[in-house]
Amino acid sequence: PVWVSCLDFFQESLPPQQFNSWIKPLTFDIVGSQIVLTAPNSFALKLIQERFLSVISQRAESLLPFVPTIELKVGKKRIPTTQQTTPETSILPTAPCEASSPKSQKEFGKLNPTLCFDHFVTGKANQLAHAAAIQVADTPGSVYNPLFIYGGVGLGKTHLLQAIGNQIKSNSPKAKVCYIHATNYVSDWVKAVQTKRFDEFKQFYNSLDLLLIDDIQFIADKAGTQQEFFYTLNTLTEAHKQVVITCDTFPKEISGIEPRLTSRFSWGLTVAVDPPNVEMRVAILLQKASQSKMSLGEDVAFFIAKHVRSNIRELEGALKRVEAFSRFHRRPISVEVAKDALKDLLASQNKQVSIDNIQKTVADFYRIKVADLLSKKRTRNITRPRQMAMLLARELTPFSLPEIGAAFGDRDHSTVLYACRTIELLKRSNSITNAEYNTLSQSLRN
Ligand code: ADP
Ligand code: MG
Repeated sequence: PVWVSCLDFFQESLPPQQFNSWIKPLTFDIVGSQIVLTAPNSFALKLIQERFLSVISQRAESLLPFVPTIELKVGKKRIPTTQQTTPETSILPTAPCEASSPKSQKEFGKLNPTLCFDHFVTGKANQLAHAAAIQVADTPGSVYNPLFIYGGVGLGKTHLLQAIGNQIKSNSPKAKVCYIHATNYVSDWVKAVQTKRFDEFKQFYNSLDLLLIDDIQFIADKAGTQQEFFYTLNTLTEAHKQVVITCDTFPKEISGIEPRLTSRFSWGLTVAVDPPNVEMRVAILLQKASQSKMSLGEDVAFFIAKHVRSNIRELEGALKRVEAFSRFHRRPISVEVAKDALKDLLASQNKQVSIDNIQKTVADFYRIKVADLLSKKRTRNITRPRQMAMLLARELTPFSLPEIGAAFGDRDHSTVLYACRTIELLKRSNSITNAEYNTLSQSLRN
């Protein structure tokens, strides 16, 4: 899927001749958490490295449940086989429609052993979620059931989910554990419906000792799947089998999911993972570096952490880029090398919108004063624009929640978080809010 997505992208964005000479001859493999790209000769390799690698790595990072390292080498093109992109060790979501027997359902259940508690850095942003996850892994089914972990992208939800699975698997190797992404759960159910194999489906999920279901927001608007999941959730929790769920929002804020199900989500324990502060980002970089035996000075770690604030996935991506750049140019890792490697990223940050600018644009748009946005006024004609401006600041600037709060008349970070969630929710249910958001966001970007 990653390579198909890259091919689609390049086919659209490059002239056909370039596409045919550079991209088409590449061979793509995933081995463990590494992507191996094989180019036909060293010239092609160098060109790929310079012109296309960042796009490929960005695509891969956004599509894979882990951040891959990318290895480029020279070699012959192999005849592609279907196995090529989904080797045994991969936990890539396999499309269930390709699955021919119920046995292959268990393929989803594969865990990635590198996503374990030992590799998980904790800090204020995730210590509660981490503690709950450890607790659940040590005493599954008896304390928090279900455990519901929520937070934005790239903040470690999948990592925690997998860590619980790995830990339980190592404590009791016979346990029936299934990790599944909600989109695969949906298609698995759809397939069961089409082939009338309800019993197999139910039998598989209801007999698990541990069900880890990732990104549950993706069962929104799928009534049949929701009903089935409700049933499975009840069956498992009543039998004291552990269920762990992750989601991008708080249970009550998920739209398109039946209330009886969302309320069931919060019967156990609900914990958040928040974006890491700069100290934690440094700690993560140092941990990732030592994990891959890379020598990374604290000054470089701090430099990267200061500039990459959005989430841990991007942080890892930046580190990988620095490493690849240093290896390719045979320059030892330093702040200078990091600057060069992350040139594009830093340039785009310099162009970034300021909070002042956002406040002014939003105030003009809603015909109110900037002072109103910063004031304590709580009438709706002021609060909505204020919340909108906070969301835009969150998305378009590198500032943290507390920093944004401070820029909006000394509010605290939870107010900003609440504002972002409110507008995100409104955007989905209300087309006017959505249109306003799009207009504002576009005019600010340009
Ligand atoms: P999410 O599922 O919330 O989108 P992931 O669990 O996929 O995020 O995390 C993105 C990447 O960041 C993964 O490679 C993961 O291993 C790494 N990561 C996330 N949180 C941590 C952490 N606390 N310590 C170390 N690595 C982390
Ligand atoms: Mg995830």
